[in-house]
Amino acid sequence: MGSPESILSQTLVGHWIGGQPVAPSPASRRAPVYNPATGAVAREVGFASPGDVDAAVQAAAAAAPAWAATPALRRARVMFRFKEIAERRADELAAAITAEHGKVLSDAQGEVVRGLEVVEFACGIPQLLKGEYSEQVGTGIDMYSIRQPLGVCVGITPFNFPAMVPMWMFPVAIACGNTFILKPSERDPSASLLIASWLKEAGLPDGVFNVVQGDKVAVDALLEHPLVSAVSFVGSTPIARYIHDTAAAHGKRVQALGGAKNHMVVMPDADLEQAVDALIGAAYGSAGERCMAISVAVAVGDIADRLVARLAERVPAIKVADGTDPKAEMGPLVTRAHADKVLGYVDSGIAEGAKLVVDGRSLRVAGREQGFFVGGCLFDQVTPGMKIYREEIFGPVLSIVRVPSFDEALALIDSHEFGNGCAIFTREGDAAREFAARVKVGMVGINVPIPVPLAFHSFGGWKASLFGDHHMHGPEGVRFYTRAKAVTQRWPAGIRAGAEFVMPTMK
Ligand code: NAD
Repeated sequence: MGSPESILSQTLVGHWIGGQPVAPSPASRRAPVYNPATGAVAREVGFASPGDVDAAVQAAAAAAPAWAATPALRRARVMFRFKEIAERRADELAAAITAEHGKVLSDAQGEVVRGLEVVEFACGIPQLLKGEYSEQVGTGIDMYSIRQPLGVCVGITPFNFPAMVPMWMFPVAIACGNTFILKPSERDPSASLLIASWLKEAGLPDGVFNVVQGDKVAVDALLEHPLVSAVSFVGSTPIARYIHDTAAAHGKRVQALGGAKNHMVVMPDADLEQAVDALIGAAYGSAGERCMAISVAVAVGDIADRLVARLAERVPAIKVADGTDPKAEMGPLVTRAHADKVLGYVDSGIAEGAKLVVDGRSLRVAGREQGFFVGGCLFDQVTPGMKIYREEIFGPVLSIVRVPSFDEALALIDSHEFGNGCAIFTREGDAAREFAARVKVGMVGINVPIPVPLAFHSFGGWKASLFGDHHMHGPEGVRFYTRAKAVTQRWPAGIRAGAEFVMPTMK
């Protein structure tokens, strides 16, 4: 256990509890894990029962007091060592991601780097946890505010970033002095075990980081467990809403990030080639399976025809192949079921009257005929009432909506259910500034198509893209994983004042 070969050579993926790999019980429910490029079942994942979840929570709860009492500097040093190990073996983690998710290897490498940036941020935890101190708030009285860990924290993560999204959570949670249980996606579960074994190698005490594999049964057991203090979730909106409501009803602190429909406004004055390059990468990178993917291009005014014409040339030229092929620009979708769902959206777009300018449905990759590939698709003349506009497709399908003005572009975005990310491409500073100020979306790019905040800022959307108060990582992450305590102290010497029956005030 520990190297990707040994992790990926397992036929049955299990849990990690109390610093040890734990095999699923023979009676456990299981699900296939595919190699999306070949369509073959690569291994199975065993699902945790409520009993398995309880074992993980008990391990995390037992480890919590000593870990919370460990000086922040020492906790940070574990993060430093983990970062060093993970950087040295980043290619192994990336290979494990590509093997189960399907994304191209260079993109998986990028995912690992972006995740490790949060580890880097967490290495500064002694500075981030510094409290506030007021001397002499009354005569001989001082007051200080500190932030303390919550206890056992849970992370429930989606398939599309099996390393980066867990790294949005656990480095900050653990550095703040909490213990952590990760419930990764059942579709690409192996990266979680690689991370667990490297954290142990970095010197993390047993029980501080645990992994339970599974589905709704494991999730519900975590949400209801009385020893769990906080729940972080990233995934689709219906599940995010459910997690938020259920965890809150059980008294937990919760942040639940949901789905997205990210718009990129292309103003008439935009540099056409820059906008087209941006759209190709942002719409079709990772086969559109990114929560920050651009899935709607809003063409303002007379740029629409030129934009569609250039995209129509570029989309069919995207090199679609097995993610391990160094020339691949786009890999397969994660499962056959997901590929079929995406194809169903394309059919519905045609049925509702959108114009399919590029049709990737019949794409076949030589030697990978059973892989879950869908070629890039481009729709023009999409309108807000269409299902392909309203819903998140999460595949390589870009919709063009034509609007006459900036105000209509803004109104279109603001009336959408989701508010994760968006972008504007323009050379006009005033339009860009007004867009950033007015748009009802959590992350905004100005001539940047995928404006993912760096680790020292916080990541999160608005509207149905986030339930709860806190964004992830950065300063918001530190706030989420700690709670405030204010201490008022005096050390009276000599005369006793006796009991006071009135509200103490400063005279
Ligand atoms: P998903 O909602 O199906 O699953 C996410 C997690 O929830 C998984 O661990 C899964 O096992 C669990 N889960 C699924 N159904 C459940 C249920 N009924 N009860 C309890 N738990 C359940 O999402 P996915 O398909 O793995 O990931 C893609 C989605 O995630 C997209 O909607 C994407 O936009 C979103 N996403 C959002 C962000 C963001 O930052 N907002 C980032 C990445 C992905």
